[in-house]
Amino acid sequence: HIRTRFAPSPTGFIHLGNLRSALYPWAFARHNQGDFILRIEDTDVERSSQEAVDVILEGMAWLGLDVDEGPIYQMQRIDRYRELIQKLVDSGLAYPCYMSEDELNRLRDQQMENKEKPRYNGLWRPEPGKTLPPIPNGIDPVIRFKNPIGGSVIWDDAVKGRIEISNDELDDLVIARPDGTPTYNFCVVVDDLDMRITHVIRGDDHVNNTPRQINIMAALGGAMPVYAHLPTVLNDAGEKMSKRNGAMSVRDYQKAGYLPEAILNYLARLGWSHGDAEIFTKEQFVNWFDLASLGRSPAQHNPEKLLWLNHQYIQQTDPEVLAQLSKPFAQQLGINTERGPNFTQVVSLLKDRANTLIEIAQGATLFYSPAPQLTQEQIAQNIPTEIVPALTDLIEVLKTAESNKESYSAAFKQVLSKHQIKMPALAMPVRYALFATTQTPAIDSVLVVLGKDEVIERLSKVLL
Ligand code: GLU
Repeated sequence: HIRTRFAPSPTGFIHLGNLRSALYPWAFARHNQGDFILRIEDTDVERSSQEAVDVILEGMAWLGLDVDEGPIYQMQRIDRYRELIQKLVDSGLAYPCYMSEDELNRLRDQQMENKEKPRYNGLWRPEPGKTLPPIPNGIDPVIRFKNPIGGSVIWDDAVKGRIEISNDELDDLVIARPDGTPTYNFCVVVDDLDMRITHVIRGDDHVNNTPRQINIMAALGGAMPVYAHLPTVLNDAGEKMSKRNGAMSVRDYQKAGYLPEAILNYLARLGWSHGDAEIFTKEQFVNWFDLASLGRSPAQHNPEKLLWLNHQYIQQTDPEVLAQLSKPFAQQLGINTERGPNFTQVVSLLKDRANTLIEIAQGATLFYSPAPQLTQEQIAQNIPTEIVPALTDLIEVLKTAESNKESYSAAFKQVLSKHQIKMPALAMPVRYALFATTQTPAIDSVLVVLGKDEVIERLSKVLL
């Protein structure tokens, strides 16, 4: 039975790359009818916050990444970690180390000077026949894991292939601090074991931790899970994504009017592919997802592609639904959607050109602003006097026209042919009379949305 997890550290910023680390294990669990567990790695008390946890939960809920177990907080499992640290000490697989900070620093400096890799020298590591130094007064020991000597750690990474690390590279890791609190790598292992995780799918920034974790896991009597280390997500400049170089948080995307379906589709393709499929549903993604199709090189964030995808999803969305989704954005711009033209109609009219919900809302302001109060000067500049007879006729024809797009089109045609003028010559002044701008969607659609009574009233005003 497959069990995966997402194990974020709630230390602030959650960018798209972080969420991808949630998406893939989720998809793998769903594909295999397994379980997906959310574990909050909050043992770095200083940097962790509930606010950050909320952002993670919110982002996952927004994308529809449902969780079978969790959130489980590591801080609530401290007793369990302590219990297992004690067990390792009791069975001789871990030991107290009394080396002071000063001594450690001196050792490190010396090794650096000799151009050696800094590593703990095993001074307090008990071995048969070895005499340990006398225990100094006034020092609370750390607990170190007794890493195997000789041999190597080998795993078949589902993304990176076979990896082999010699145990000589690994020193005896501190698993408990002087105050007894467990360290990061130890907690991860205990949790992956206790939570019976079968597949650890995570960012490849953890690949250096993996051999240590595998050794600790073996010492605790656990079987090694499958590891899949995902290549980093780079920003569009090819740098590691971070808040400092302008990455947007999940919330920023939400606020900018992206649809969660578009984000999910986009993230899915950020390091995974299924033939040349670019647009697919969540269900298709789950059906197709497998570890073998994960990319091996870093994925690069492409904001334009995301915008394009969002545009596609906006086109696919039912106008009623789209109107519901756009409403909060419109309200933020001060639009009262309960008054004036039918909001769904407005949205249908605007969606073809919109990339985001904000763009829809921005386009909608045109239809909810009061009739423009044009000055004589504005009228003189934008409504040529020679077009006035045609405008007058248009008003008359509209008065008896049926209220639909076809009859509005016909009204325009009739007036154009009578006056021997071309569409723009009439449509531009009409647009200006209606909105004080010529940047509007197609004029016949605009008439439908605004309603002919309102149109006639606004046109009449410029003829006074
Ligand atoms: N808490 C780690 C992080 O946020 C992930 C650890 C893991 O997946 O094993 O990067």
